[in-house]
Amino acid sequence: MFDNLTEKFEAVFKKLRGHGRLTEENIQEALREVRLVLLEADVNFRVVKDFVAAVRERAIGQDVLKSLTPAQQVIKIVREELARLMGEGEENDLDLAARPPVPVMLCGLQGAGKTTTCGKLALYLRRQKRNPLLVPADIYRPAAIEQLKTVGRQLGIEVFDSQPGEDPVRICEQAREYAALNGFDTLILDTAGRLHIDEELMGELVRIRDSLEPREILFVADAMTGQDAVTVADSFNQQLDVTGVILTKLDGDARGGAALSIRAVTGKPIKLVGLGEKMDALERFHPDRMAQRILG
Ligand code: GDP
Repeated sequence: MFDNLTEKFEAVFKKLRGHGRLTEENIQEALREVRLVLLEADVNFRVVKDFVAAVRERAIGQDVLKSLTPAQQVIKIVREELARLMGEGEENDLDLAARPPVPVMLCGLQGAGKTTTCGKLALYLRRQKRNPLLVPADIYRPAAIEQLKTVGRQLGIEVFDSQPGEDPVRICEQAREYAALNGFDTLILDTAGRLHIDEELMGELVRIRDSLEPREILFVADAMTGQDAVTVADSFNQQLDVTGVILTKLDGDARGGAALSIRAVTGKPIKLVGLGEKMDALERFHPDRMAQRILG
């Protein structure tokens, strides 16, 4: 994960440590390099600008320059600010505290990993003693419904029996009734995705949201697509007011731009991360641990 980014940070810090005592100019130079490293990792340029300014403000202080291990102090500041950028200190728990069945809506572009993530989330919640029902609401691609049914069978988790061509809002409403009657406490809605955002898709997602009032609306973002994921997340958020992000494919060699920018740009927390194709490869997101990993 983020190997390239980690390597580059290591090189910057090695140089910084090599100075022994640090001057303000040493720190400025290191920050110029950090800026380039982040831009190369496809982090949004405004996010980079604010990040470097925040580190600079803390690192140029006399306490750092006079300390016995100034390089160490600067590195610590970078780590803390990276964690803060990804939401450290903010609430990012899934919030399912509502009267069951609690609807959880997943949305995102085709290929981001939505259907896979629905299955992973169902397993994740079952391990927390919840009883989820999977709901295929992508009626445009029969393959998507089949894919979710296959996932459900594999996990032993029931999939609501929707048919291609039915109205997705109706499917979700019926699934909610079915869940209430059959003791399911959580609905996981697998909504339609497209290759690109279009008005019709957004209109449909808004109708599902308005009818079901999901407790969580989670945008599924492919970490491999860098800033594109961030731009798409921003427009989904503007239309749907999402409650959080699930970042998928972090097991691949993503450059880091999505992980580092998405919270700052959308203002919404990363709640979960996908770390593989297997059904148990879904974890809670910990900004501090991620920052630590990035810095190696
Ligand atoms: P959807 O079109 O958004 O529903 O996407 P899918 O769930 O069909 O996933 C698209 C592809 O991404 C599939 O091949 C998945 O196995 C893969 N995928 C999903 N999540 C992850 C992940 O966290 N890591 C990896 N390596 N692959 C993933």
